[in-house]
Amino acid sequence: MGNLENMYIELTLELENLDKEKSKLANDFLYEFIDKYHELQQYNDINKIKIELSKIMQKEEQRINKLAQMYEINETNIEQQEIPKEENNTKLINVKEVKKYFDEKIIGQEEAKKDVISAIVMNKLSDNSSSKNNCLLVGPTGSGKTLIAEAVGKCFDMPIEIIDTTQLTVPGYVGADIEDFLTRLVIKAGSIEKAEQGIVVFDEIDKKGTSSNGDITGRGVLNTLLPFIQGTTYDIKVNNRIQQFNTSRLTIFATGAFTDVAKKSNSKNYSNNNIGFDSANKKVNEDIQYKKLEIEDFVKYGNMPIELMGRFSVITQLSGHTIESLKKILTFSNESALLMEKEKLKKINIELRWTEGYLDSVAKQAIKLKTGARSLKSIVEKSIKEARWEVLNNLDIYSGIILTEKSPNDNLDCNLIDSSGNVYNLKDIIDSKDKSELVLVKK
Ligand code: ADP
Repeated sequence: MGNLENMYIELTLELENLDKEKSKLANDFLYEFIDKYHELQQYNDINKIKIELSKIMQKEEQRINKLAQMYEINETNIEQQEIPKEENNTKLINVKEVKKYFDEKIIGQEEAKKDVISAIVMNKLSDNSSSKNNCLLVGPTGSGKTLIAEAVGKCFDMPIEIIDTTQLTVPGYVGADIEDFLTRLVIKAGSIEKAEQGIVVFDEIDKKGTSSNGDITGRGVLNTLLPFIQGTTYDIKVNNRIQQFNTSRLTIFATGAFTDVAKKSNSKNYSNNNIGFDSANKKVNEDIQYKKLEIEDFVKYGNMPIELMGRFSVITQLSGHTIESLKKILTFSNESALLMEKEKLKKINIELRWTEGYLDSVAKQAIKLKTGARSLKSIVEKSIKEARWEVLNNLDIYSGIILTEKSPNDNLDCNLIDSSGNVYNLKDIIDSKDKSELVLVKK
């Protein structure tokens, strides 16, 4: 923090002497910094601080660089506090730090994290774009495929565009063109040069292989992806100007559940009776039936063109979530909706607590919904919203919320703590209000 702190103090002192343009730049930075600085002070975990700092750095990179030039601050000192990201000097890539960054976000999926990190690091070390690795991530909905691609973008400061492949059509049909997505990537990146070194994710690529959705052009779309992945040039319109976008240096991901491929390729062991929640193993059987898939499986059972499959040098599989992994996501991932809620409430001196039963109950609901970890956020949100509303309206009375096993099914079934430490059931509070009783019922 030392350098940032010095910079902050120096800027504050110098602000009066700056001309208008510099003063605005400095002001913007200071506001952002002050916000973050207070937030960072609450963390005692050095890794978390590093990650938060790297986020500010990535966002503020341009401003910081300008400011650093203005004040001749030694940039290398600031950089040392960040997670290493893409620099011309590839020696800066510290795989352990990158892995740590991934682990804070993505729970489990060790194989996939390892495969993807290795692939990206090797891409960074390669001068030859034709030898770069493209990654196909296979796994059930909500297992973390997109999250991994996004983590690459954030960690290595690469702009990212996620293309819903189901929307793509071949020329002449109504739908989305690849050029539109590239334009979006350029706008996000701020320049065509940076965009060309960004990430493109073809999401749900498996849907174009199967004709079950009635999309006869699916195969055509997959074929148009070939030159894209191999490296070609598109004319795209940015700010009303036609510019050339070369795809050869892009990092390309494709994701898909490939449920049919997994089922059919494993049909010997697979029977419909096996699908569903197996309480003894606490796993979704459909997920644990995924065997190691080979290129032939995707071609034979998923109708994927073999030439396209050959472009993915890395094919990695993610497993379906279990109750245990979902509980870990809730309590460890820095993307966790529950932890984020806790952080926010802490800012207004409300302590959010939960029981082990609450975590179990949220995880079980998520398993039933069959959307992996994706549904955790909405289950958490639904279970807390009544308690939060009561507390926000009476900040002078309450100091905490306790979510219980029953809260995910009935969001009035949770406990509130008053400032003297007494615990009340939210239902009782609401009942007593309905009866116009002014005194809260102590539990
Ligand atoms: P998909 O595999 O369908 O691409 P996503 O990566 O979009 O799934 O995951 C949806 C959401 O679920 C993520 O934004 C994240 O909040 C959560 N999530 C999924 N898998 C994980 C995981 N392994 N660790 C942490 N969070 C996860």
